[in-house]
Amino acid sequence: MKTFHCNCGAVVFFENTMCVACGSELGWCPCCRAIRTIVNDGNEQYHCGDAACATPLTRCHNYAVEQVCNRCLPTLQVTQGADALCDYCRFNDTIPDLSVDGNLAKWREIERAKRRVFYTFDLLGLPYGSAEDGFGTPLSFDFKGDREPRRFLWFNVGEHEQVYTGHANGKVTINIREADDVEREKARVSFGEAHRTLIGHFRHEMGHYFWDVLVKGTCESDCIALFGDHENPDYGTALQRYYENGAEPGWQSSYISAYATMHPWEDFAESFAAYLDMVSVVDVAFHSPLADTVDPVQADFGAMANQYARLGLLLNEMNRSMGLIDLVPEVYTAGILEKIEFVHRLLRGATARAT
Ligand SMILES: [Zn+2]
Ligand SMILES: [Zn+2]
Ligand SMILES: [Zn+2]
Ligand SMILES: [Zn+2]
Repeated sequence: MKTFHCNCGAVVFFENTMCVACGSELGWCPCCRAIRTIVNDGNEQYHCGDAACATPLTRCHNYAVEQVCNRCLPTLQVTQGADALCDYCRFNDTIPDLSVDGNLAKWREIERAKRRVFYTFDLLGLPYGSAEDGFGTPLSFDFKGDREPRRFLWFNVGEHEQVYTGHANGKVTINIREADDVEREKARVSFGEAHRTLIGHFRHEMGHYFWDVLVKGTCESDCIALFGDHENPDYGTALQRYYENGAEPGWQSSYISAYATMHPWEDFAESFAAYLDMVSVVDVAFHSPLADTVDPVQADFGAMANQYARLGLLLNEMNRSMGLIDLVPEVYTAGILEKIEFVHRLLRGATARAT
């Protein structure tokens, strides 16, 4: 993540809508590809506060009205009479029921996580698109809650609608309960997971999406050689087996998480998420004053993995000094790194094809 500045010179974050130093409004300028001071010209019309850019901007509907976004669109791209939705919000098919207390705050957290994840996709130049774009595997999101409150997040306990966090045919569904810190932490502990975050959910589910976009019908045999055959056993059998027996002892030598042992698709999605973790952490370091950092967009995989390992030791110590859980809890064995490197080569190849 780059460091962004307000026109007053203060450092501002990717999530900010206002500069805490001078009170200026902030927003993502798609022309600068940065968080910028945005100047209100009246009538919901803005322009980018960067003198060299000064692009006329319209705030995303989910920014101006719902306060869950902080992105702007070039005013020229806004269709009259329709809600102006930014490049990321336009993928939302279903948003939480805002008449329910607390749902707006949950949605805000979900959008914050989503923007961070998309930032990395755009940094890497990954291909994605909607049905309107004519994209082969159209991406969309459903953010919704269970119709009835349920005690468990992960399996159906009644005949009422239960929302599963998951991916199917380009549609990523997030159960908005995952935006409830208490519920999510309970689930993390009960599953024995090192981390459970909204960002992690998006990275994992988008791993399934990019499997459909980049692997399916293209390089499935290479993927099978490394991750195993996704058709044997089939997903349903594998799922049942995993929930009955759990992961095999010793899984840590070749899987990034216990859940990755469930099925080759889950192993791929977990490895994909681990790669995005690596890229975003190394990217923060690259734009920091730390010495000897590598650019995750350019570096070869070995250099990036090395840097991530060194940063991991440092950041784990930092977290421990504050009593927090480890930032990089996993041990990256050669077998695990081989899978993550597969993702690296796959995504680099996709970027090369797109440019
Ligand atoms: Zn400022
Ligand atoms: Zn600009
Ligand atoms: Zn938006
Ligand atoms: Zn999955």
